[in-house]
Amino acid sequence: MASEFSIIDQYFRNIGVSCGISRLSIGDDAAVMSLPQGQQLVTSIDTLIAGVHFPDDTSATDIACKALAVNLSDLAAMGADPAWFLLSLTLPEMNQRWIAEFAAELNRMATEYRLELVGGDTCRGALSISIQINGLVPEGRYVTRSGAQVGDLILVSGSLGNAAMGLALSKKQIAVPGVLAQSCLGALNRPIPRLDLVPFLRQFAHAAIDLSDGLVGDLAHILAASGVGATIRQSQLPVNDWIKANAEFSYALTGGDDYQICCCVDAEAISAVEEWNRSRPDNQLSIIGEITESGYTLETNNQQIDLTGKRGYQHFD
Ligand code: ADP
Ligand code: MG
Repeated sequence: MASEFSIIDQYFRNIGVSCGISRLSIGDDAAVMSLPQGQQLVTSIDTLIAGVHFPDDTSATDIACKALAVNLSDLAAMGADPAWFLLSLTLPEMNQRWIAEFAAELNRMATEYRLELVGGDTCRGALSISIQINGLVPEGRYVTRSGAQVGDLILVSGSLGNAAMGLALSKKQIAVPGVLAQSCLGALNRPIPRLDLVPFLRQFAHAAIDLSDGLVGDLAHILAASGVGATIRQSQLPVNDWIKANAEFSYALTGGDDYQICCCVDAEAISAVEEWNRSRPDNQLSIIGEITESGYTLETNNQQIDLTGKRGYQHFD
């Protein structure tokens, strides 16, 4: 049976690409980084637990992809560039095939998003993956949840509700045509962190959040942190045709795991939004409503629904 140390050496020593500022990486008691002048460190940690964050039969490849993607999504929401990460891996057994698949996908993702794995921890127990991620942002340019202003436009990236539909599909609660099913399962298992939005967010966002627990609850975090209200319109939500045809908007409103970005921009930034959308026909930003002084309302075709007090997914409910 391979030892913990030989597993680390074989599979985790060379993951990703050098971030250029690590002075000591895997192999010592801790890693050492030299922070570049004029940059601030943005740091976050997210854990994925089998049976809670992904179905038990999820492949090692999809688990690795999602573990890094959800962390990268937090950096994107903050307007930070990825730099390095640490991996705490709890495994029920030393299954070398599983570890090899997991490490290969982690390496692919870390290389694509320009990250270096500089350390971690390996334990035995129920399958759980924690990644502590670190990014850099020019001094003072990070984006928070607390800067939304009355009159701001509320934007969301991509399409909402696909991941929640993917979960419903994997539990056989719904049936949809094959192509849509594939894209929903892809959204659930292989979310794409929206780091492409970082320059836009740094330039235009007064506030931003990544959508992990559902739009209604996540936008509520911006409203609480910023001390403002909002009106959003169901007809403007970016959703797939099946959600529209079946009026199943709850997938987009309260379904989690989309990992798109919701942000608030000045009304004058509308030309920047239009410019973004002109140059990216397959990757649109949708204006779904406005920031108001108070209240939290969803407008549908014939109703005004009060969203005050509506929350997203909570682990301890
Ligand atoms: P310690 O007992 O001092 O905490 P460990 O034996 O846990 O050290 O780890 C030895 C080295 O291997 C450390 O540099 C640690 O960061 C790294 N490491 C351990 N597990 C992992 C892992 N899953 N991925 C990447 N690096 C790891
Ligand atoms: Mg340790």
